[in-house]
Amino acid sequence: MAIMTIVKDTDEILRKKCRPVTDITPRIIQLLDDMADTLHDSGGVGLAAPQVGVLRRICIIEVEPGELIEFINPVITEKKGSQQEIEGCLSAPGKWGYTKRPAKVTVKALDRNGEEFSLEAEELLARAVCHETDHLEGVLFYDNAVRMLSREEIAEMEADD
Ligand code: ZN
Repeated sequence: MAIMTIVKDTDEILRKKCRPVTDITPRIIQLLDDMADTLHDSGGVGLAAPQVGVLRRICIIEVEPGELIEFINPVITEKKGSQQEIEGCLSAPGKWGYTKRPAKVTVKALDRNGEEFSLEAEELLARAVCHETDHLEGVLFYDNAVRMLSREEIAEMEADD
């Protein structure tokens, strides 16, 4: 078990474009395992490789506890509709905002065995897929946020937890 340090949004690395994975080496498998430990420790829903300092096109998402999905070289192939919800990021503690995302996306990726899979996602999973694939392009959620939450709204939201 290895928990990696999550880089903050002041770090330039989060603005870089990630390179595709050409070969699923034992190092990549180790990275996936360490990212899962890091995500579970953080209590977040998704984590992209650049957030742990690795500029590779890898992200993981766990919307339903125990149902971790690993994406290697993910590509969104279809977007439908739209939704607007509150979003945050493990690299941007204390920042929350409304983003406009597709209601449904289809995403294609490789799993850790190098097998291609395709997934249809909606609601939170669709938002997470968009958020994490944006990270691979150096884009952060608040770049295109519809509106950021005020301090008061965040305090209210945190009081509800
Ligand atoms: Zn993020």
